[in-house]
Order: sequence, then structure tokens, then C-alpha cells
Amino acid sequence: MDKRVYMKAYYIKNKDKLTAYRNRPETKAKLIEYYRIYNEVNKVKLKAYKKAYRILHREKIDKYTVEYQLENFDKIHTYQAKYRETNKEHLEKYREDHKEEAAEKAAEKVSCECGRDITWGNIARHKKSKFHRRFFGEVV
Ligand SMILES: [Zn+2]
Repeated sequence: MDKRVYMKAYYIKNKDKLTAYRNRPETKAKLIEYYRIYNEVNKVKLKAYKKAYRILHREKIDKYTVEYQLENFDKIHTYQAKYRETNKEHLEKYREDHKEEAAEKAAEKVSCECGRDITWGNIARHKKSKFHRRFFGEVV
């Protein structure tokens, strides 16, 4: 028998036993340590793989993201408002400490899909502009 077929059959037959084994605290600790080391060693490989996956499955990811955000609109907004409230001081300090960095980033030039070079800080406004929308065939 093919090894993979055998493994799959073995997994299905012993699913409960294997799940119980995996959930034992000592096994869990071992697995966490194993994956921590694995992720550290394969950092570059994993990053490249994730990036390729995001590019290949962009449509699926975007669709899922939109659906999730629509379904969980209240949950997301409540969580964000609560987070901003509880971390107010930390967020203000962060903004103050990274002011120059943020200004540099905002002044950075990026190329839009429509062909214009826009600063990063103005890209959102540009995407609502007549020029950009006309480029993509919208009647404005
Ligand atoms: Zn544009």
C-alpha cells in the first residue's frame, strides 16, 4: 500500500486516540517548543511561502475578509473602540515617539495602478479622485 494512503487510513481509524495524545499537556508543550524552533529555523522560507500564497489566493482572501467584516461589523467596532480606550496613553506615546517616522512614510512616493505617482499619505484621497475613478472606467 502507498505510504500516504496507509497514513491517512491510520489517521482516520485512530483519530480519537491521536487527538487525545495531542491534547496531553506534556505533548502540547513539546509541540509548542517544536514549532517555535521550526518557525525560527525556517523564517525566510515561511515568509516567502506566505507572500506567494497571498498573491496566488488574493481574490479568495479579499472575498473572505469582506464577508467577515460585514458579518462581524459590530463585534469589530466594539473591540476597536474598547482597545483605543484601554490603550489610550500607550497609543499617544507611540504616535509621539514615531512622529518623524510617520512623516517620512507619508511623504514617500508610491505608484498608483492608474499610473500616477502619489505620496503614501495621499493615496487614499487620490483613489477617490475623479482622475483615478475615470481611469478605471467609472462615470464621474
Ligand atoms: Zn490612481
